[in-house]
Amino acid sequence: MKITIHRGTHQIGGCVTEYEYKGWKLFVDYGEELAGGHKTGKLEIEGLTRGNLSKSALLITHYHGDHIGCITELKKSLPIYIGKVGRDIQLVLSKHLVSVDGLQRKMINRLQSANTFTPGESFSFGPFTIMPIVIDHSAFDAYAFKIEADNVKVFHTGDFRTHGFRSGKLPKVIEKFVGKVDYVVCEATNVSRPDATSISERDLQQQFIKSFKKNSGNVVYLSSTNIDRLFALYHAAQKAHRLFLVDAYQRQVMDVVTQRDKLWGKSKLYQYGDNEPMVLQYERGEFRLNAKFKALLEEKGYVLIARANKRFDSFVERLPGNKLRYLSMWKGYVDAGNEAYNENLAAALGKDFKLLHTSGHCDMNNMRELFRMLQPKAIIPIHTDNPTKFAEQFCDEWPVITLNDGESISPISSKKMDHCSPFICCLGKKKNSEVIGPDNKETYWDIARKCLGSFYWKEAALFALNHAIYRPDAVLFKEVEEEEDYSAEYIQTYDKDMNPLSTYVEGEHWPDGDRYQEPCGFAPGDKVLAAIIPSYNTIIPATIIGPVTPDAYRKVYEEDELCHNHYDSFEDFEKEIWDFDWDAVVVRPLVRLDGMSEEVIVPRVFLFPYREVND
Ligand SMILES: [Zn+2]
Repeated sequence: MKITIHRGTHQIGGCVTEYEYKGWKLFVDYGEELAGGHKTGKLEIEGLTRGNLSKSALLITHYHGDHIGCITELKKSLPIYIGKVGRDIQLVLSKHLVSVDGLQRKMINRLQSANTFTPGESFSFGPFTIMPIVIDHSAFDAYAFKIEADNVKVFHTGDFRTHGFRSGKLPKVIEKFVGKVDYVVCEATNVSRPDATSISERDLQQQFIKSFKKNSGNVVYLSSTNIDRLFALYHAAQKAHRLFLVDAYQRQVMDVVTQRDKLWGKSKLYQYGDNEPMVLQYERGEFRLNAKFKALLEEKGYVLIARANKRFDSFVERLPGNKLRYLSMWKGYVDAGNEAYNENLAAALGKDFKLLHTSGHCDMNNMRELFRMLQPKAIIPIHTDNPTKFAEQFCDEWPVITLNDGESISPISSKKMDHCSPFICCLGKKKNSEVIGPDNKETYWDIARKCLGSFYWKEAALFALNHAIYRPDAVLFKEVEEEEDYSAEYIQTYDKDMNPLSTYVEGEHWPDGDRYQEPCGFAPGDKVLAAIIPSYNTIIPATIIGPVTPDAYRKVYEEDELCHNHYDSFEDFEKEIWDFDWDAVVVRPLVRLDGMSEEVIVPRVFLFPYREVND
């Protein structure tokens, strides 16, 4: 399966991801680039915006403009899949905007012909199996997808968080519907927004209740499709015994949710209590505020859900008494210096307002919990302006593959016969307790080998290695193995920075062969690190004696009881020494582990420059 990030490797918003297998293409999200920030402009993508569309489909994670906005450009023949309630909310929004934004007509048409899916029920498209998972976000009915083809499983998070009202269910949902995956394509919005608060929606609601009780006039600015916040505010107003005021459009959005099918039915959050939201009436292009209504507002107090526009501005102006304005959105919108600055919103809020908001995106600690559940081979960050920082955050536990827009990785099923595997080999646990000698001041380590998956071509495996960041301080070498055991036909090792260290290519290493005693780059007496894999799986410090000779193997034969019991003669044993074993070097271990001889034979490619490693 080929995973291509067409956009979103270095920007928040406008992400487009493609999963391709055997010519079938599954795209995830096709949205607009957000105001401000990095821009790439219009995309031309084979199988999405042009060319053969007969084996393509588009999945939409949620209705935010940066995920759905560009679907109006797509040909009708391209199937689109979206969650049903999310689609219905977007339809209400589009119908509301259609008089001022002609493009919304196209959006309505496109959505009316879209396919909907049911969370927790997998469906297939060509060779792909897709499992939609409801995930908590500031958009309602938002999804993550488990996408599977060729026995490769990917979890595509979409935008999400773990501090919403419904986030508590995520671990169970992951366990039941997802399990372990090979890769996570993960949103990483908040990695470079250290100020992004992530108090829970529940705690935020408590703050609103407190404030609504204290202040009788409350005007809250928030996104009209931030459903969970909207209902939290509705219930907060009920608790504070304030009237809850919305315009007709906002009420319609809320009604879509309360009238939704059984999926959300159990949650009290999405149900109206005794007092349903009050709808503002229009009169001559204004919201009506007659004396009777004024008196009611003064008597009961109110929570008005507002948006920054002329109609609301005028209404808020005319409201009686003291009014406290709240911003319940990302504060970047009213930071004059920010590229996403919204002048109207800033003007509506004025100087004195209360910021009560929590992010729609996950904070980094909770993300780690998700990755621990999914146990991926590697993580690919998208929807972020700082992939490097994301890698720094998580590379202690998982390889993070950072791509540029348009780049791909192409993992294949590990069950395929011919494949090669890239490994990042690190110093694992430091050990010094079992040291027998000769110098027990030396340290040795476990080998921690991290496999990035299976790839068909060596070049594809190398590409993954080249773009993966994993425990950079502990990396000893990286390698590409053509098969999963150690009888490799080809091994190439690299240093931390992917400079080639040494290469093994099968053939001609036996005595009198052309590559017999191939130079290893180390001279006798050099101190090195040697990876001793059979029986020990460790990295020990050692000094070089010299290239292996038949005499060294004779010594092994004589000293190793198992060996000389197994073979009738040294000549019989010698016949079974294969090419890889002849491409070896005799070393003297500086740490001798239990049962280890004073001289050990190590494959030439598993010797590395000695380095002191701090804890
Ligand atoms: Zn987004």
